[in-house]
Amino acid sequence: MSYMLLTITLLGLIFLTASCRKEIPSDPNSAGVTVTTVSSRGFLSQEQIRQQLQKIAQSTRPKIQAPGAMCYSIALPPQYAEYVCPKCGSRTQHYSQKQSPLNKEIIYNGKAISALTYELDACRRKIKQVPKLSVELDESQFCKHCSPDIETPSLILIIHYPEMQKDHRYEGVTSQDLDLLIHFLKGHKKYNDGMDDVAVKDHLEQLEKIVGVEINNAQ
Ligand SMILES: [Zn+2]
Repeated sequence: MSYMLLTITLLGLIFLTASCRKEIPSDPNSAGVTVTTVSSRGFLSQEQIRQQLQKIAQSTRPKIQAPGAMCYSIALPPQYAEYVCPKCGSRTQHYSQKQSPLNKEIIYNGKAISALTYELDACRRKIKQVPKLSVELDESQFCKHCSPDIETPSLILIIHYPEMQKDHRYEGVTSQDLDLLIHFLKGHKKYNDGMDDVAVKDHLEQLEKIVGVEINNAQ
């Protein structure tokens, strides 16, 4: 009898937990909203970022191991992906090929499918690890309801520099971009991306685009 009571209590607890979870998306401050805001103290200015870029440009390139042989097979992205908007709850179906409503051309939308399939979860996780900058991940282009006019959606990294009126927007951000940014901001000269060693110095041009700062453009 007491065993049954315990089971019922447990089931009740599971049910309560489940129903609490359902309410989380309606809270705009919860994790998983369309724009993930991460704040920390002591944000860097564009000038400080430029100086840090310059420091790396002038530093000696770290010794890294030669990239390993590509002995894995590269899977083609799926033909279809669904995006559930954490902000408005709408479901948007994305197909790898679709007809443009404007000029009736067939658009190959593989980038959007890849972003949803391979990048979204990793980017949501990594945006929270970016130190020293006020950053957001804007996913809103993937929602037909929030962005009705966007034909080829992409993930956008937004950086708020304390001294700038306008935010820097970097379209098409990937989890690899965020890895590079995180290690750059932590002052690492090299890191392992899970497959190979990567020298930050080898990707300065990419970093300039990500942070919206040019090394040789003093203000
Ligand atoms: Zn939406």
